[in-house]
Amino acid sequence: MLSLLRTGLRTRQRIGSRGLGTAVQGFTAAVGNTPLIYLQTLSEQTGCKIFGKAEFQNPGGSIKDRAAVGVVRDAEEKGRIRPGGTVVEGTAGNTGIGLAHVCRSRGYKCVIFMPDTQSQEKIDLLRMLGAEVHPVPAVPFENPRNYNHQAREYAAKLDNAIWTDQFDNTANAYAHYVSTGPEIWEQTQGEIDGFICSTGTGGTLAGAGKYLKEKSGGKTQVWLADPPGSVLYTYVSSGGKLVERTGSSITEGIGQGRVTDNLATTINDLNGALMISDEKSIAMLYQLLDTEGLYLGASSALNVVAAVELAQKLGKGSRVVTVLCDGAYRYQSRVFSKKWLQSKGLYEAIPESYKKYVVL
Ligand code: PMP
Repeated sequence: MLSLLRTGLRTRQRIGSRGLGTAVQGFTAAVGNTPLIYLQTLSEQTGCKIFGKAEFQNPGGSIKDRAAVGVVRDAEEKGRIRPGGTVVEGTAGNTGIGLAHVCRSRGYKCVIFMPDTQSQEKIDLLRMLGAEVHPVPAVPFENPRNYNHQAREYAAKLDNAIWTDQFDNTANAYAHYVSTGPEIWEQTQGEIDGFICSTGTGGTLAGAGKYLKEKSGGKTQVWLADPPGSVLYTYVSSGGKLVERTGSSITEGIGQGRVTDNLATTINDLNGALMISDEKSIAMLYQLLDTEGLYLGASSALNVVAAVELAQKLGKGSRVVTVLCDGAYRYQSRVFSKKWLQSKGLYEAIPESYKKYVVL
């Protein structure tokens, strides 16, 4: 624990002693300490208290900045990487962006492997952030040419390089255990009946969920929210049955086909799971924009639907926290496009009064 406390993830490194006031030192120290937003309209509608942790305010724009700082600092502290080294990851999204920022700010080379089906914007952004990007054929995890395996093999061949392995490296969940969890506990002053969020690697749910459960002595319920096409909802609600992956979702960055090592640390202690449809998530994305002024990605919208449903299960007056993972900026050509929404059969899921926001 001590090691991460020094990283700035939990307590920001202040450099006031050098005459710079209360400034924090660099990108890594600016990660975390995000506001907890009380979602007013939804709370009034439900008679509960619904909160969203504003992870879109991290300097790299998403919740994954915390994991990126966590895995790199862990490798540094274990002596697995030295100054001037190379950080390699297989990722199509926010983790790569977080890692690219961390690498520039700490003097490492960043190499990202991703499926060649990803948008040019994502590739361009990573390259603008100084990362070397290798688009590789989009083949399933079982195939040795899968982008994750290529990342691992590439790192193994280099001197002074690490594969950060976000799915199975528990330094990811640990970053949330020492930052996201304690921040939520302090911001709610310990009055929190439920915590619910979706999972990609499982780092957020495992780390923050474990902290809140421990700190509350088991009083805070911890639930998983899952999109269609993920196997975890069935896994949790059946008590451990792993089914074949079928179906798909418009949400990006979440949904899983297996129990990752990060998730394994907590999955058996969860209180339950909810499956949220794309129709509900997309309607909530627009509702949050209209009523709260929040411009969020689909995983955040799914999390808020789940928080509302959990609060209703826990009863009037209950206090439920979820995570607002990132903004809509990286997805706007899709979720604000009438043509795209129609192609997914989701345009009609948007209430008439919100259709004015579908401007593309
Ligand atoms: N939402 C978005 C937009 C993400 O990119 C991710 C990470 N892939 C998640 C949610 C899930 O976070 P975690 O990996 O901690 O489970």
